[in-house]
Amino acid sequence: MMSTIYSDLAAAVGNTPLIRLKAASEATGCEILGKAEFMNPGQSVKDRAALYIIKAAVASGDLKPGGTIVEGTAGNTGIGLALVGASMGFRTVIVIPETQSQEKKDMLRLAGAELVEVPAAPYKNPNNYVRYSGRLAQELAKTEPNGAIWANQFDNIANRQAHIETTGPEIWAQTEGKLDGFICAAGSGGTVAGMGLYLQPKGVKVGLADPDGAALHSFYTTGVLASEGGSISEGIGQGRITKNLEGFTPDMSYNIPDAEALPFVFDLLRNEGLVLGGSSGINIAGAVRMARDLGPGHRIVTILCDYGTRYQSKLFNPDFLRSKGLEVPEWMETSRDIQT
Ligand code: PMP
Repeated sequence: MMSTIYSDLAAAVGNTPLIRLKAASEATGCEILGKAEFMNPGQSVKDRAALYIIKAAVASGDLKPGGTIVEGTAGNTGIGLALVGASMGFRTVIVIPETQSQEKKDMLRLAGAELVEVPAAPYKNPNNYVRYSGRLAQELAKTEPNGAIWANQFDNIANRQAHIETTGPEIWAQTEGKLDGFICAAGSGGTVAGMGLYLQPKGVKVGLADPDGAALHSFYTTGVLASEGGSISEGIGQGRITKNLEGFTPDMSYNIPDAEALPFVFDLLRNEGLVLGGSSGINIAGAVRMARDLGPGHRIVTILCDYGTRYQSKLFNPDFLRSKGLEVPEWMETSRDIQT
């Protein structure tokens, strides 16, 4: 057995298990496996990108001891940066759209991040959270005694490098190279493109699962970045070709509406003990579509991106679901408390 003593929190990032998704596998005749990224210390896949971005900035000399990391994030990258940053002595400043879940904002503050909440605005708006964070990093670089860097997860390819060097090789070793397909959604695109660059040369088909409101499915199928509708999933749904996505083309692409994805999240919670966020639902629905296209007998891996408690006030709240016109599972409305 390997040594189980890690030198610090950073060393505890990655090496997550693959879990067989029973119902999805049985329904398709394929083996659908979920990479349990919610088991990272910050409970999401983004710990990997956060660690690689910090390591690259330290190696280049841009991030100095006691320096500040600035980032625009839907939450999970910020949580990863704050926790890994804290373990290495860095301060973290996070710019977040105010529409993100309260749980993620609370967790960021708990992890010691200083938050700047901004109204949600499209990328073309200069006050979009990503662009705002870039400007703030420039200002803080001038005023902070130990300097500041912009993590820039969308266009910093240290992000996808984390998946090329860790997620990909882990999955390849865990499946002993017996793997037919991989699929996930894109936020920054670091995961899907990193996996594509690592797995496609090995003959594995890599697919994109795109939620409503994202423009990538349209781009990869028609060449035009166009989007329609919206999704309650957080952290995914990209509208442009980020630097992390450059040089990657999915073998298959699917548009997945929330109404198709959420039943997977609810069923896995009730029947398989998996507490997942909305983006995992998009991923699993994508894996099921890919399984149907590949046919029975194939093995497909997807990403279980983050832990569901992060979305208790939204995804698991009947009033919120109803307000979005989404179906509420019966069990969610029924209290199972025992009255004494
Ligand atoms: N799911 C969740 C919950 C996320 O926060 C993110 C990242 N924003 C993703 C999926 C997508 O990961 P990536 O940035 O690597 O595309």
